[in-house]
Amino acid sequence: MNSYVLWFSDIKKEDVPIVGGKGANLGEMFNIGLPVPPGFVVTTFAFKKFLDENNLWRKIIDILNNTNIEEYDSLKKASDTIQALILSSKMPKDIEEEIIRAYKQLSLFDDTPLHIKKDALVAVRSSATAEDLGDASFAGQQATFLNVEGSQKLIDAVKKCWASLYTPRAIYYREKKGFDHSKVLIAVVVQKMVNSEQSGIMFTINPINNNPKEIMIEGGFGLGEAFVSGEVNADVYIVDKETLEIKEKHIGKQEFMIVRDERNYTKKVKLPEKLQEVQKIPDEKVIELAKYGVKIENHYKKPMDIEWAIENNKVYIVQARPVTTFKTKEKKKEETEEIKEEKTEKEAKVLLRGLPASPGIASGPVKVIFSADEIDKVEKGDILVTTMTNPDMVPAMERAAAIVTDEGGPLSHAAIVSRELGIPCVVGTEKATKLLKNGQIVTVDGTKGLVYEGKLVKEEKKEHKSVEMDEELEEAIEYLKKELEALDTTATEIKVILDIPELAEKIAKLDVDGVGLIRLEFAVAENGIHPAEYLRKGKIKEYENLVYEQIKKIAKAFYPRPVWLRTLDMRTDEYRNLEGGEKEPEEDNPMLGWHGIRRSLDQPELLEAELRAVKRLHDEGLTNVGVMFPFVISVKEVKKAKEIMKKVGLDPEEVTWGIMVETPAAVQIIEDLVKEGIKFVSFGTNDLTQLTLGVDRNNERIAKLANELHPAVIKEIEKVIKVCSKYGVETSICGQAGSKPEMAKKLVELGIDSISVNPDALLAVKKAVARAEKRLLLKASRKLINQENENE
Ligand code: PEP
Ligand code: MG
Repeated sequence: MNSYVLWFSDIKKEDVPIVGGKGANLGEMFNIGLPVPPGFVVTTFAFKKFLDENNLWRKIIDILNNTNIEEYDSLKKASDTIQALILSSKMPKDIEEEIIRAYKQLSLFDDTPLHIKKDALVAVRSSATAEDLGDASFAGQQATFLNVEGSQKLIDAVKKCWASLYTPRAIYYREKKGFDHSKVLIAVVVQKMVNSEQSGIMFTINPINNNPKEIMIEGGFGLGEAFVSGEVNADVYIVDKETLEIKEKHIGKQEFMIVRDERNYTKKVKLPEKLQEVQKIPDEKVIELAKYGVKIENHYKKPMDIEWAIENNKVYIVQARPVTTFKTKEKKKEETEEIKEEKTEKEAKVLLRGLPASPGIASGPVKVIFSADEIDKVEKGDILVTTMTNPDMVPAMERAAAIVTDEGGPLSHAAIVSRELGIPCVVGTEKATKLLKNGQIVTVDGTKGLVYEGKLVKEEKKEHKSVEMDEELEEAIEYLKKELEALDTTATEIKVILDIPELAEKIAKLDVDGVGLIRLEFAVAENGIHPAEYLRKGKIKEYENLVYEQIKKIAKAFYPRPVWLRTLDMRTDEYRNLEGGEKEPEEDNPMLGWHGIRRSLDQPELLEAELRAVKRLHDEGLTNVGVMFPFVISVKEVKKAKEIMKKVGLDPEEVTWGIMVETPAAVQIIEDLVKEGIKFVSFGTNDLTQLTLGVDRNNERIAKLANELHPAVIKEIEKVIKVCSKYGVETSICGQAGSKPEMAKKLVELGIDSISVNPDALLAVKKAVARAEKRLLLKASRKLINQENENE
């Protein structure tokens, strides 16, 4: 059966190698007598023959063999070249004729009189055969074209689907998972478009009470998207599975429907008042749908989740998959009782939309906080709602069941940390802190970026990072990489703050000048044990190994660009959740307490272990690791730290090391500190602002006073930059202020050497820096011209 085209009627579910996963599923549904929209599949034989006749196999494999998939440029170039090769190659005549013949036949498949028959509108969808890869890694990657009309457009769409087997992501995943590119083929489904007048979903088990004797049908006017997302109230019908009697009807008020416009975009159309509250699916169609539901469940032998549509009074089944979103009857009685109160995803009201930042679903009571000083209010299982999380909120984030923020993107701190913690997170909702109220029960879907009212039936706990999320991050980074590279290189170096070693490889792809701050406490907290506990238990070597392993990931990914490791800076109140964390001393004001260099010198075994780890990295050639000491207030501290460096074999003359300038004391004695031989200073403006202005970072009442652009803070920075440039010491910033464009501008004017920012602020800061630098040049040249004019 080496046909280039197979009709759904000729396809069995075992035909995946010939028609791909999607094609096989449609064939299966068609052949059990379901009304799937008619169509055919352009088989993998056609694709193979196309490649053979155009001699593309060798070329593709050669290109892939010479591609470094870890380098985005190389990967992208390979993808572009292969796709261009496919698109510019000729479709063999016999294949083209067979496709067009089938298409013409498909166009006859309705009740339109013959003399006005036109070419059919079809959906053209890729159907890959690499089943083992699972849909997740292909999701959204391979092309789909809707409303394709006319033979030539269809042929072009088929070629585009073929080419989409070689998107950068598809190539990357195949390589990563060890798939042989030449064994992964692609088929193309060509199916008549259904112009849904009504549509919806059907569950062959009632998801509200888990009653397997009931079918629940939900639907209304227009395309199904509105009902799936919960944006629109649908009608809900409960049908008895045995008698097919409609037991319940809930008529929803549907204010608008979603339709597709001429350009294939979906748009909302308001429904006339009189249609909003009518029964939208006639009884006989509800019953017809229920019959199909029974048939599908009997065939697949499990409760099914079905998508359906109605056009011209005819029912179509568009999709059928096993129900996964709720517990089945066999579960314990109490469980069933418990979820009676709850709603299904389809039923629940969507309160907010944002960007999916960390996958998973969790429910709980809302706790709105506005700054790190309120984190104590967050209890285990709360939904943490805030404007934007920062590192200090990590303990609260650890307690939270999910996180919702007003601001941020997938690369922002909230997103990064929650992915690390494995809890669902939705960022960038714009109004979560205004809309959600303390104590209100909500469900956060971090995969879809939605916040629902109430508790949903199913909660899932994320146990590992999902492929989908990795893809999203990958995409965000690819985007950022392109955008950054489109900007001119700035004279001021731009670095990143990177606290999660697992992200190093991805972030290192960006055109940045290094890592200006690694918060060691983040990197080691991942292990769940407080560093002081290693000391107590006499397991200091384990701690050293942990530091070595974690920092190596970052150093390697960025090599040869500099990465500055900040030695441990844990406040006594911040990491109580870690093993041994409960033994931390109670302090009245941990911000002014036992942390940073002062604590490291009190527990030199820990500092020595950290520095030994750095020495090992240097010995292995990773000499790009620099060392930075936090919260310095005296020359004595620096001298002692230097001694410990020497003790472990790190020569302060050779190694790149420096201090954070984050206390007014360090500002005042900067010249003496510089004379100790430091190579760089980095402004910790979070602490510097707190200590200069007397504004406790943990006190909500005065949070509004914490202004890093306060003239007092700026004057301090100015003074330090002046002294450092006199001694040739590099100046940098790693406080959050560096991620603010207005601060970046000021710092450029003051002559800073480098700025470290959160990855999601890179673009804005790089632009602000470039502009500030140009402005300085312009100013200087104007001055020069004026001087010349005066002299004349
Ligand atoms: C700072 O104080 O600006 C800084 C970067 O350190 P942290 O926020 O960890 O105190
Ligand atoms: Mg600090």
